[in-house]
Amino acid sequence: MRWKKIFKLDDYTFIFTKFDDEVINKKNSSLDQSKSSNFIICSTVDTSTEYRYAIIEVHENSFDDASNKNIDNKACHEVMHVLMAPYANISWKLLQELPSQERKVYKKWRKSEEEEFTSRLADIICSLKKTQRSK
Ligand SMILES: [Zn+2]
Repeated sequence: MRWKKIFKLDDYTFIFTKFDDEVINKKNSSLDQSKSSNFIICSTVDTSTEYRYAIIEVHENSFDDASNKNIDNKACHEVMHVLMAPYANISWKLLQELPSQERKVYKKWRKSEEEEFTSRLADIICSLKKTQRSK
């Protein structure tokens, strides 16, 4: 996987798995707020910084309608999460120190900031790589 090399994550083991709509439905029913949102899960990553592995889950339909460019961008995004995992872990740990009522709000905020930041960085890296290739 080229993003693993580009991000110098050679010490990590990457495990790829697929999931389907049934998994999404289960997740949605356990999170009551997700029913009102149109958020579509295409891929997720679960990282263990301690044991240096990352499990990347990809929705089985992601490959059907997405162009190669989109798949590459998604892959870059998920690997970017792995790179940022130590920082994300610290922020999760700090949130545990808050009173539970405040924690909920900050968890949501923290998650959306992480997604936004990761997406922006992935877009920048992908466009830089594209410019590099066209030279
Ligand atoms: Zn993400």
